[in-house]
Amino acid sequence: MTDRIYFDNASTTPLLPEVIEVMHSVMREDFGNPSSIHSYGRRARKIIEDARKSIAGLFNASIGEIFFTSCATEANNTILKNAVRHLGVKRIISSPTEHHCVLHTLDYIQENDDATVDFVHVDREGNVDLDQLEKLLEDGPKTMVSLMMANNEIGTMIDIGQVSALAKGHGALFHTDAVQAIGKYPLDVSKHDIDYFSASAHKFHGPKGVGFFYMNQDHVLPPFIHGGGQERNMRAGTENIIGIAGMSKALEIAYMEMESRKNHISRLREKFKKGLIAINPEIRFNGNQIDNYLHHVLSVSFPPSEKVELLMFNLDIHGICASSGSACTSGIEQTSHVLEAIGVPMDYVSIRFSFSPLNTLEEVEKVLRRISEILLR
Ligand code: PLP
Repeated sequence: MTDRIYFDNASTTPLLPEVIEVMHSVMREDFGNPSSIHSYGRRARKIIEDARKSIAGLFNASIGEIFFTSCATEANNTILKNAVRHLGVKRIISSPTEHHCVLHTLDYIQENDDATVDFVHVDREGNVDLDQLEKLLEDGPKTMVSLMMANNEIGTMIDIGQVSALAKGHGALFHTDAVQAIGKYPLDVSKHDIDYFSASAHKFHGPKGVGFFYMNQDHVLPPFIHGGGQERNMRAGTENIIGIAGMSKALEIAYMEMESRKNHISRLREKFKKGLIAINPEIRFNGNQIDNYLHHVLSVSFPPSEKVELLMFNLDIHGICASSGSACTSGIEQTSHVLEAIGVPMDYVSIRFSFSPLNTLEEVEKVLRRISEILLR
C-alpha cells in the first residue's frame, strides 16, 4: 500500500484511523438491535441518535430532518421517485451532467411515472444555464429542480444560494445531490432554501454502504423502502449502526479540518496543474477553474498521441491510481456523458485526478515525474 499513490478520492476515500476506531468499538461492544428495548438495544439506539444530532447540527438542520440510508443512490431514488409519486410533482428540471444515479432514475420516472424531465444546458465548463432554468420555471406544472451541488467528474459547482432561490422563488421544490461537496464545503439549510439533499459517507473518509438525506419538514415524503418502523417510518430495515457511527465521526473530523484540508489540497492541485502545463501546454483542464469548483478534483484531457493512449495503463503499472471517468462507471462506460456534454474532444484522453488530505506534495512531484517520463521519453 505504502508505495502506491491514490489520486482517486472522488470515487472513494480511505477510512481515517479515528473512524476505524469508532467502528471497531461499535462492532465489539454495541451489536444490539436499536429497536430492542433492553439495554443492548438502548445503547445501539443512542449511538444512532447521537450521530443524527451531530450530523443535523453541522447543517443547521433539526434532528427530525436527517434520515440514514444505505448510500446516496438510495437517497436520490427515494427523493426523486417519491416526489413524483406522492407530492404531485409533474416535471423535474435537471442537467445532463448529473451522476447516473440521478439520470437513470429520471429515465425510469419518464418511462414509468406521470412526469416529464427537462434538462438545462451546461456551458463548456459545466456551469448550468441559469437563464434557461428561470425561463423553464416561469410556467409549467408542479416542478422539482434537481441539480447537483458539485460535479463528480469535472468538479464544477452550482451557486447553491442562487439556484435554490430561483427554484423556490418560482414555487418549485429543490433537491441537490451534494455527495461530492459534503464535508468539503459548508451547507447551511437555515440560510439556503433547500428541500432535500443527499450524502454518502465513503466520499469523506467514512465507510461504504451508508449515507443520509436531509428532508425539509415542510415537504415530507412517505417511505421508499417499506417494512419496519425504523428512521421514524421513513426508511425500513435494521440500521447500519457501525456505518452510521463511522459516518458521523468522519463528518465531524471533516468539519473540524475543513479549512486546513482545503488549503492543503488546493496547494497540491495548483502544483499538479502547473507541473502538467510544464509537461505539455496543450493539456486541457475540464470544468470551472475560476471560482465555483471542487478543490479536490482535477479533470485533465491530454491531446491525442500514441503515448497518451497508454497513460492510464502505465500509471497503474507504477502504482498510481486515478480515474478514467466517473468511478462508478469506469470499465463500463466508454465515453463519459459529462465530458461529452461539455464538448471535450473525444480523441483526447481524459483522466480525473482527485486528492485528499492524506496526499502529499512529494506524491504530486512523483506523479508529475512519472507522467513526464511516460509522455516525453
Ligand atoms: N452522486 C455523486 C455526485 C457521486 O459522485 C456518487 C458516487 O460516485 C453518487 C451520487 C453515488 O453515491 P453512493 O456510492 O453512495 O451510491
